[in-house]
Amino acid sequence: MRTQVVIIGGGPAGLLLSQLLHRDGIETIVLERRSRDHVLSRIRAGVLEWGTVEMLRAAGVGARMDREGFVHDGTYLAAQNRGFRIGFKAATGKPVMVYGQTEVTHDLYAARDAAGGTIIDEAEGVMPHGLDGDAPHVTYVKDGTEHRIDCDFVAGCDGYHGVSRGCIPPGVLRAFERVYPFGWLGVLSETPPVSDELIYANHERGFALCSMRNARLSRYYVQVPLEDRVEAWSDDAFWDELRRRIPGDAADRLVTGPAVEKSIAPLRSFVAEPMRWGRLFLAGDAAHIVPPTGAKGLNLAVGDVHYLHTALAAHYRDGEDAGIETYSERALSRVWKCERFSWWMTTMLHRFPEQSTFDQRMQEAEIAYLETSVAAQTAMAENYVGLPY
Ligand SMILES: Cc1cc2nc3c(=O)[nH]c(=O)nc-3n(C[C@H](O)[C@H](O)[C@H](O)COP(=O)(O)OP(=O)(O)OC[C@H]3O[C@@H](n4cnc5c(N)ncnc54)[C@H](O)[C@@H]3O)c2cc1C
Repeated sequence: MRTQVVIIGGGPAGLLLSQLLHRDGIETIVLERRSRDHVLSRIRAGVLEWGTVEMLRAAGVGARMDREGFVHDGTYLAAQNRGFRIGFKAATGKPVMVYGQTEVTHDLYAARDAAGGTIIDEAEGVMPHGLDGDAPHVTYVKDGTEHRIDCDFVAGCDGYHGVSRGCIPPGVLRAFERVYPFGWLGVLSETPPVSDELIYANHERGFALCSMRNARLSRYYVQVPLEDRVEAWSDDAFWDELRRRIPGDAADRLVTGPAVEKSIAPLRSFVAEPMRWGRLFLAGDAAHIVPPTGAKGLNLAVGDVHYLHTALAAHYRDGEDAGIETYSERALSRVWKCERFSWWMTTMLHRFPEQSTFDQRMQEAEIAYLETSVAAQTAMAENYVGLPY
């Protein structure tokens, strides 16, 4: 087989890149390790930056999001059970959109199928070759038979555990990492959300977040020690802990129900540099991870795809390679700013095991400053709705 761009990974980054390149008249083949049902059942991100919303519309996959998504003009922050609101729209002119990653992925698969796009799922042993030359190819095994695809470029959109990042030689690749000493226990429940906007809560027992997917589906999280096991948390224990950490009025109106999904996710900040090596480009979680506190993971993947698809479009349309040459530098410049925001939100809102009383006062002062300063609120809002590309 031959194509112009092989995309490794059929998550949001890979599918969106494939869809945008298709609209630019560029051929792709997507190789996905898991089954489609598995990819579509993953419960992950829920908050879209406004730039992400506009990119999905430009890719021709915004119609259902615009019908079913919820536009949020702000969010609530809380400290020690007392909350206040930060208005994104008032501060920046832009809101965010609440629309689940599962739905985004669903819409992207539907668009690729409608356009006759090639997505090969359950592709095993995917391996790129010849990335530092002019004629790369990718091999994989499907139903016991090995296949080879020749191509011009390879896009590594295969997430943190993918194969692509490891193709960059050790002497070239640099990794920067912080692992946080706690995780998030998340519960999805078929109950109405406790609030019309998200609530981020700092509390002496640990962080909590009230989020949602739609009017009947809520997503809640509490900070837990890394050693905790999900089986040890009954639904009742989860709801009791959440109630203790959020503002009293929210705790009073919280509607609880059985968890339809319950999991613990560790928190990590990670960046790999560079994001391009020869004819390989990394995009999304393959190159960077953020703790979910700032709702940036999926949005960062979309930002990378913006830089990459415009670079590849300029290459094929005009023979112009400046976008390819500067892809890593441009993407990383935005990535690091978003890493900073996610690290800042995480540091401000969580209890750290070694936290001193001084650290505690610093957190309280930071939150009090946010409550009272228009400048501080604007800086937070500007980052939350998404920095420009
Ligand atoms: C529990 C949780 C909650 C999250 N909450 C948020 C949030 O609120 N807001 C937010 O913005 N982000 C959030 N994120 C992060 C967000 O989900 C990711 O940043 C996003 O999925 C990145 O998209 P991606 O396409 O780069 O990677 P992925 O979604 O990881 O997709 C990569 C794909 O590549 C495939 N793959 C891997 N290896 C191979 C291989 N060798 N060959 C072929 N295919 C391969 C994988 O199966 C997968 O389908 C959350 C993540 C988790 C885990």
